Amino acid sequence: MTEENPFEIALKQLDDCAEILKLDHDIHETLRHPMRELHVTIPVRMDNGKTRVFQGFRVQYNNARGPTKGGIRFHPQETIDTVRALAAWMTWKCSLLDLPLGGGKGGVICNPKELSVGELERLSRGYIKEIWEFIGPNKDVPAPDVYTTAQTMAWMMDEYSKITGSNGFSCITGKPICAGGSCGRDDATARGGMYTIREAAKEAGINLKNATVAIQGYGNAGRHAAFLCKELLGANVVAVSDSKGGIYNKNGLTIENVCACKAETGSVVNSPDTQAISNNELLELDVDILIAAALENAITKDNASKIKAKILAELANGSTTPEADAILYENGVHVIPDFLCNAGGVTVSYFEMVQNASMYYWNLEEVHERLAHKMSSAYYTVLDTAKKYNVNMRKAAYVVAVNRVVETMKLRGWI
Ligand code: GLU
Repeated sequence: MTEENPFEIALKQLDDCAEILKLDHDIHETLRHPMRELHVTIPVRMDNGKTRVFQGFRVQYNNARGPTKGGIRFHPQETIDTVRALAAWMTWKCSLLDLPLGGGKGGVICNPKELSVGELERLSRGYIKEIWEFIGPNKDVPAPDVYTTAQTMAWMMDEYSKITGSNGFSCITGKPICAGGSCGRDDATARGGMYTIREAAKEAGINLKNATVAIQGYGNAGRHAAFLCKELLGANVVAVSDSKGGIYNKNGLTIENVCACKAETGSVVNSPDTQAISNNELLELDVDILIAAALENAITKDNASKIKAKILAELANGSTTPEADAILYENGVHVIPDFLCNAGGVTVSYFEMVQNASMYYWNLEEVHERLAHKMSSAYYTVLDTAKKYNVNMRKAAYVVAVNRVVETMKLRGWI
């Protein structure tokens, strides 16, 4: 196994679960493959008048429990194996939260930072032009992920509506509220993570009032987490980082200043009253809670033993490799695994689907209340399973999620 290939990691995690569950060979083998994948080329007219061809993917991993669901990433390092892994994790995530959905994921190889707004819009529409027949409320429902936003979803929904000649609100989630989106979808991933941290703190014996937090990554999830740590948990964020580096203040960061600096300079580095630290130094800080909110493979066998946090909350998908997992478990770090910790996003996406279908929209309090209930009940299901099987939290999450998918596949007569 190459440590960095996310799909190999996803398969290794599944294999470990198959062993715990003594899964039948044929079922296990079926689950090791995506059900369907689509590779597309997207020609885009650039601002300079030339046409550039982009490559995109959509993977529908498993739809036993419902239409496949999962985000679309725009990233220069996107690969089909990354999309496959993320689609598999979406399958387990939706199952773990007991949503009536399967798992999918999409991706386009591109660097959004180098594209103009017009080019991004044409790329988003072009992607939908290539995949529209494969998506829809009863087939596969995309959403935002790394470097895609509510605006991206609005363009995609609009393109789908134009092609199909009907209102396409329900073909995609994470839309702006005025275009069929749900209240509370923007910070749902981070907020859902906070609800799991709140429960994990009880388990780990941490008093959240003024507990110290370090956050790796300052995208949608990391930025919202920085605000919500204080607002919801009363905790103190002492360090954050982005791809350019990290910042630290032992007395706590002023998140408004950090955001202003990010908006102005494109990075959190150089925020006033902070000390510069490297991304690795941030991961190794002596804090109560470490939130991994960047990309895959942040915590590997090389740095896992240096992690001092009592709780590791994985807001990013795939942040920890299997070798690192074993080390963290041995060292007593309480890991809230990615497809539990970051499931708030897809949970509110599911609420968005329900609201689109019923044409009746909920208020923010209703969304928060239902999200809190979903997240904490999933957390305790995983915790109880971890204790019952005497395994780490990730393995327990797999046991719950895979069991449900397998049971449905059997009842549907697939295996
Ligand atoms: N991209 C998010 C995730 O990885 C959200 C997916 C969705 O809302 O469908 O969970």
